[in-house]
Amino acid sequence: MILEVTRRCNMCCEHCLRGDAQNLDMAEETVDKLLEQVGSIATVTFSGGEPSLNVPLIRYFFKKARECGVMPYSFYVVTNGKANQLDLAAVLLEVYPEMEEPEACGISLSVDQYHEELDTSPLVKGLVFYDPQKEHQDFDERWVLRRGRAYESGIGTAGVTKEFQVEGDGGDGVMVEELYVSADGSIYPDCNLSYDDMESDYEQVPIENALPFLTGLLKEELAEAV
Ligand code: SF4
Repeated sequence: MILEVTRRCNMCCEHCLRGDAQNLDMAEETVDKLLEQVGSIATVTFSGGEPSLNVPLIRYFFKKARECGVMPYSFYVVTNGKANQLDLAAVLLEVYPEMEEPEACGISLSVDQYHEELDTSPLVKGLVFYDPQKEHQDFDERWVLRRGRAYESGIGTAGVTKEFQVEGDGGDGVMVEELYVSADGSIYPDCNLSYDDMESDYEQVPIENALPFLTGLLKEELAEAV
C-alpha cells in the first residue's frame, strides 16, 4: 500500500515524475475510508510530493491502523531531507517496535544530481532503519521515468504502466499486489505516475469504492478464466 500523503513539495527537481507540485494534502477521512475496507497490510510506503510535509497524516495513519487492528508489517518512506525530519523520525521510531517485520522497514534519503544539496548532515541517516538505496552519486539518466517534469525536460525513459493485480484471498476478500492511494482520495495500481497521467489515463475510483471495484476486477478475471 502506498499513500500519497501530500502533493506539496519544497524542492523543484528537474527529473520529478509527478510534475508541478500541488497544494493538496491527503485527508484523514481518506485514511478512515481506506482502513475500513482493509483486512491486512503487508507494507505501507509514504509517498508524495514530499512526505515530510505531512507528518500529522502519517501519525494519524498509524493511530487509525492500530485502532482498526491492521498495523502494517513494515513501513518505508523516501524523503528529500529538507524539512520536519525530527517529527518524521519521531513518528517512525514510535511505531517501529510494533512492526512485525522490522527488518523490512526503511527510510531513504534522496541524494543525486537532481535534488538540492543539503548543507547539514541529515538526521534520518542515524536511524537504525536508514536505507541508503536512494543515494546515487551520479544517478544514471536512463533510470529516470520520463513523466511529469522529466517529460518536459526531455530526460529519462518512458517507464511501464501497470494494471491492478488482484486475486482472491480464499474468503470474500481480494488481495491487491499494489494499491496506490492518491492525495485526492482515488486509487491507482501504479506508484510511478504523474498527476496528469492519473487524471487522463485511469478511471477515477474513489477510495470508498475501492473494495467493490477490485472485487469486480477479480470477478471479471475469474469469468475470463472459465
Ligand atoms: S522528486 Fe521529490 S523532492 Fe523532487 S520535486 Fe519531485 S516530489 Fe519534490
